[in-house]
Amino acid sequence: MLSQADRASWMKDAACKGTDPGLFFPENGDTSATNPAKMICQGCVVREVCLEYALSEGIEDGIWGGECARERRRIKGRMRQQTHSRMLSGGLQSRDAPTLPLGGSGAA
Ligand code: SF4
Repeated sequence: MLSQADRASWMKDAACKGTDPGLFFPENGDTSATNPAKMICQGCVVREVCLEYALSEGIEDGIWGGECARERRRIKGRMRQQTHSRMLSGGLQSRDAPTLPLGGSGAA
């Protein structure tokens, strides 16, 4: 989990800063790859840390790190599978962390 200071430091570089927050919480349910919020996220320099933040905080609504809630659930599932597989193979160390599969989760 990120501290308040860590959170503030990456959010200052967010590409969505100053945009309409409503874009990131689409009421029409549009979470396609062409969603305007996802297009903004594509060019965001803090995309990965934003996604990590949403995953670690268990945020269930909106688009974070270019991924909608359903995509984040898939990512979490894949991360759990990676961790489980590594544990079973005896290769998991405390310093190991599952990798974030950015951008490969497919359209909603
Ligand atoms: S990845 Fe998207 S939601 Fe996250 S800070 Fe960047 S523009 Fe905002």
